[in-house]
Amino acid sequence: MTNAAPLIGFVGLGNMGRHMARRLAEAGHKLIAFDINEAACAEAAGHGMEIAGSPREVADRAGIVLISLPAPLVVREVLLGAEGLVAGTAVRLIIDLSTVGPALAENVAASLAARNIEYLDAPVSGGTTGAAAGTLAVMLAGPDDALARAEPLLAVLARSQTRVGPQAGQAQLAKLINNMLFGTHLVAALEAMAMGVKGGLDPTRLLAVINASSGRSYITETRIGPAVLQRDDQVRFATGLLHKDMQLGLTAAKESGARLWTNDSAGAFLSQAMEKGFAPRDYTAMIEIFEDWNGVSVLANPAQEQT
Ligand code: NAD
Repeated sequence: MTNAAPLIGFVGLGNMGRHMARRLAEAGHKLIAFDINEAACAEAAGHGMEIAGSPREVADRAGIVLISLPAPLVVREVLLGAEGLVAGTAVRLIIDLSTVGPALAENVAASLAARNIEYLDAPVSGGTTGAAAGTLAVMLAGPDDALARAEPLLAVLARSQTRVGPQAGQAQLAKLINNMLFGTHLVAALEAMAMGVKGGLDPTRLLAVINASSGRSYITETRIGPAVLQRDDQVRFATGLLHKDMQLGLTAAKESGARLWTNDSAGAFLSQAMEKGFAPRDYTAMIEIFEDWNGVSVLANPAQEQT
């Protein structure tokens, strides 16, 4: 990549964005980034990125801007606020990697189109591990030419790019359905692990049985071991963000008239966890609720593991 390479913008350098921006910089792209968190900006500067003073400044300098932001209202402000990307003079394409729900995606796509800026609905799955390794799954909804321009950048971040449809919001709906399933698998796995321990099973052996059998899921295969049995205490995906996704998914279901059963119940459990203060903690920390209810500890037992 030469010095004349166009600047790429990146707004939102959190648990996901910091890895994605770093990967783009390491792939040779010149980045201009912004986050309200100074420490996040300092880390990005350490990877050679220019740091802007506002989203508007990013959009004054970069023709393509990627965003990875926590919530629909933040996305709306960063896109359409007075100091938002929409006010920038250079930006022509915004790639939104956040999970914001179909209604907001449709709405901002229309507002941006009126200003001659294309919006690509591009939520991701794969967690911080996938973001760090460039193995995310990205779901895409938007016009053909936007997809074509985004493809080489997304190839640095994702192992798979699946086009869901032409209309902004369609990828969001697919992403919410995925995350509702993820939340439901999570709650089911946590309660099952606590039930096993309550019944006298060793949790490490129970997990081995599940992972060798038909009850396994992404949660049991990758998260219960390190985060529940070993309590590695890393925040990879905050409970508050999962709750947001469940609520957006349940709202989308209501709006379309889709009748749910199990996902509704997992959503109610997550709302209860929010009331108990779990919002900033990793989603696996909710094991403590089932431990409390059942008077058990779902920790690996080193003594038993050796027998
Ligand atoms: P995060 O909270 O760690 O990061 C969000 C970043 O946005 C933070 O650095 C924050 O300072 C910044 N920010 C907030 N308001 C801002 C503003 N007005 N202007 C500029 N920056 C602002 O969240 P995350 O886990 O990185 O998730 C980002 C998005 O990706 C969310 O929509 C989430 O649902 C989605 N997502 C997360 C994961 C995951 O495993 N963490 C996986 C898939 C998708």
